Amino acid sequence: MVASSVSSSPLSAAQGADLLYIDQLTVSFDGFKALDNLNFRMEVGELRVVIGPNGAGKTTFLDVLTRKVKPTAGKVLFKGQDLRRYSEHEVAILGIGRKFQTPRIYQNLTPRQNLELSLNPRKSVWSTLWGTRKTSQESLDSLLETIGLQDKAGIPAGLLSHGEKQWLEIGMVIAQDPDLLLIDEPVAGMTDRETEATAQLLEILAKEHSIIVIEHDMEFVRSIARKVSVLHEGRLLCEGTVDEVQNDPRVIEVYLGTAKDHH
Ligand code: ADP
Ligand code: MG
Repeated sequence: MVASSVSSSPLSAAQGADLLYIDQLTVSFDGFKALDNLNFRMEVGELRVVIGPNGAGKTTFLDVLTRKVKPTAGKVLFKGQDLRRYSEHEVAILGIGRKFQTPRIYQNLTPRQNLELSLNPRKSVWSTLWGTRKTSQESLDSLLETIGLQDKAGIPAGLLSHGEKQWLEIGMVIAQDPDLLLIDEPVAGMTDRETEATAQLLEILAKEHSIIVIEHDMEFVRSIARKVSVLHEGRLLCEGTVDEVQNDPRVIEVYLGTAKDHH
């Protein structure tokens, strides 16, 4: 179905199945279009990887979803709700959680304490994730195990490795029980072993959450991706499996900028 045939009602059937429905989204910074008529759709339960050259607009895209950046034009529906009606604070309550690139953990507190502070008091997070009979301590143990920090749950978080801090941050966002988890370049600076563990972590989290991951590391992308969206100059260049996008001449051209030379 083409976007123009979709009615403007947030409740229309065509948009009902989409977790995210983005139509003709433009973000201008002093006339420069970081996003330029971007169309993007995502269903509930997807683990979507977004790639694209530097400056493609990937981070701006996440900034729009968290309401940090306000669109110049276009429509963004999350669970059928027009995001324009929500502030940056409210969008978190609506169910969008973001893991930032720089860790925001309390270095002097333990991983367990950091997770406790992140619990979403408005949602019965633990009943949602792990069944109603578990106590919150048992559930914290489960989350610590999921993020691979059960053996380091009691040491100051400042002593964790770079990768472990990233996992703790992911755990802190999960503790808020988001419907959509946004992660920008999670494996930057990680060792190969940490990168593999992060792929496994995202596979586990994807069973319970919808996730958008931005990442450059194509080996990592290959290990987790079902569907990849390629951004270029603020637009959606193409979408498909890792193989499809890596073999797409348009993608090869924007990444190498030398496709013409090979003809
Ligand atoms: P990516 O994450 O894909 O590398 P960004 O979304 O960070 O790209 O940036 C897209 C483009 O928008 C870049 O050219 C960047 O310089 C520009 N840009 C991003 N944020 C701002 C801003 N606040 N003011 C002006 N230009 C910006
Ligand atoms: Mg970026």
